[in-house]
Amino acid sequence: MLSDDLVALQEVDTAIDQLGFRRARLPEREAAAAAASQRDVSRKRAAAIAARQAEIEAAVAAAEKEGADLTRQRERLQAQLKTVIAPREAEALMHELETIAARRDALDDAELEHLEEDARLAGELAEVEAAVPAQDDAQAAAAAALAAAEAEIDAEVATLTERRNELVGRFDASALADYEAARRHHGGVAIARLDGRQCTGCHMDLSTSEFERVKATAASDAIAECPNCGRLLVP
Ligand SMILES: [Zn+2]
Repeated sequence: MLSDDLVALQEVDTAIDQLGFRRARLPEREAAAAAASQRDVSRKRAAAIAARQAEIEAAVAAAEKEGADLTRQRERLQAQLKTVIAPREAEALMHELETIAARRDALDDAELEHLEEDARLAGELAEVEAAVPAQDDAQAAAAAALAAAEAEIDAEVATLTERRNELVGRFDASALADYEAARRHHGGVAIARLDGRQCTGCHMDLSTSEFERVKATAASDAIAECPNCGRLLVP
């Protein structure tokens, strides 16, 4: 009977749909995403620390260069100071030396802060890097568990698809197109049964003439549509 094949096809399609739904929501998928995200957070943090350490290194190098320039300036001003006689000139030189000393102090403070930050970062980087191998392993294990769960579902789908292809071969193209269209319109479930005169899909009663027509169609081993919702009616 065509209607039996239709019911079988619907069962296979529903099973395939359910497997697809389950595949998309596998707990292993969430676990794999969480493991990957944890590993990525560590990698990003390690990269950010390395970038900041490079900045610090550059800042320290620049400060050391400026410090050397300041030392040369100070030596030059101190030599000048020994030769000036005018008090106003000496005062100006003293003021310049004070400015240089203040700048050197600021550079020293900044360098100290940088070195402290660098030491903190080095400690954190060591911790982050120590955690990475275990996170890599956890990520690989979670990915493998997901792949295994997916493969199990895929094998079931493959079996069902074979069965589906076999069933599909029993329908002509237009009956199959009606079925596919009804599935699209009704959330994947194309068929409904008749409960008395009522369609179990839309719960509307068929009129006497509609009911007779559906019965006659079914009797000729063809498939009738519900005149109200378009689902394919099977006895
Ligand atoms: Zn209906």
